[in-house]
Amino acid sequence: MKEFDYRRAPDVTGAVGLLAGEPEARFLGGGTNLVDLMKSGVERPALLVDVSELPLDRIESTADGGLRIGATVTNSDLAAHPDVRRRFPALSQAVLAGASGQLRNMATVGGNLLQRTRCGYFTDVSGPCNKRVPGSGCPAVDGEHHNHAILGASGRCVAVHPSDMGVALTAFDARVAYETLDGPGEMPLTDLYLPVGDTPHRETALPPGALITHVTLPAAPVAAESRYRKVRERASYAFAIGSVAAALDIGDGHVREARLALGAVASHPWRARAAEAVLTGAPAVGATFAAAADAELAAARPLPDNGYKVPLMRNLIVSVLTELAEGGAR
Ligand SMILES: Cc1cc2nc3c(=O)[nH]c(=O)nc-3n(C[C@H](O)[C@H](O)[C@H](O)COP(=O)(O)OP(=O)(O)OC[C@H]3O[C@@H](n4cnc5c(N)ncnc54)[C@H](O)[C@@H]3O)c2cc1C
Ligand code: SF4
Repeated sequence: MKEFDYRRAPDVTGAVGLLAGEPEARFLGGGTNLVDLMKSGVERPALLVDVSELPLDRIESTADGGLRIGATVTNSDLAAHPDVRRRFPALSQAVLAGASGQLRNMATVGGNLLQRTRCGYFTDVSGPCNKRVPGSGCPAVDGEHHNHAILGASGRCVAVHPSDMGVALTAFDARVAYETLDGPGEMPLTDLYLPVGDTPHRETALPPGALITHVTLPAAPVAAESRYRKVRERASYAFAIGSVAAALDIGDGHVREARLALGAVASHPWRARAAEAVLTGAPAVGATFAAAADAELAAARPLPDNGYKVPLMRNLIVSVLTELAEGGAR
């Protein structure tokens, strides 16, 4: 591992200032992704600015009935928080479906959203990878890609985003707030991740050196009966090969409101707007749920070895929506 300096950020302004002073600096949250990438040589920072002790570790209700979640809240505290469990159960379920208890105790909200892909070529510094070395090629397209993207990819990169938490946050219209030397800013989580296009190495729309300070969730009564379901190759301690965060508001047998987001299918958590459009106003029955899944997956462009994800995601969407409808979703 390359030698590096370590500084503990004194406060938010100080954190942003420390990072700005060193072009090769990185913020350190729980370190559960960044330190691994430093060990493999993917990341070679000259300075780590530790933000994990900043006072951004609160989860608070907002005036509009939503939640404000600090960037250094650990995954464990997020999943266990009573308001999260009661008002956004899919978020709690998503976090608990990720990693292990020890990792969740370390990992932070900001770090989870900015964790890097688990594509094996990305972490193998001996070979090419457009995301790691722009213009070097994407060996996954003709190589090992059984868990790669089926939606929104480009010939330059077919990697998926690994976050479970991000999928539930996407379903519930989360916004990401950040601090820079020029002051604060915020954006919808759906705008945080840039489309892959020709520049897979450019992953987020955050201004250079921005520190994520918190994530907000607007009030969403529909989320109170939400679900997160994750399919993985073993029962625990594994990344998703497909996941769904969903919520339904049903009245008189019809869907009044639907929220649906998909994980492990694209370079970012995927808001299933086409499916939501089919669901809204339609009878809350299996045929509607299947039509909604088909509408979303019509855009799927699988590779030779990940075509299984299309029926997998179709079945997962139908199953979760059916479970919500039978469970008397709002
Ligand atoms: C074995 C293993 C299994 C895992 N399984 C899963 C899983 O199933 N599902 C899942 O979702 N995740 C999984 N993870 C990933 C884990 O959840 C992430 O590593 C973790 O959430 C990252 O959070 P962190 O605070 O440790 O981030 P760090 O490693 O500290 O940082 C990650 C990135 O975010 C940046 N960063 C951190 N905080 C901020 C901030 N406030 N503002 C701006 N930038 C910031 C860092 O500079 C770095 O680039 C797994 C990890 C491991 C090691
Ligand atoms: S899929 Fe993306 S991360 Fe993986 S090798 Fe290709 S460019 Fe690199």
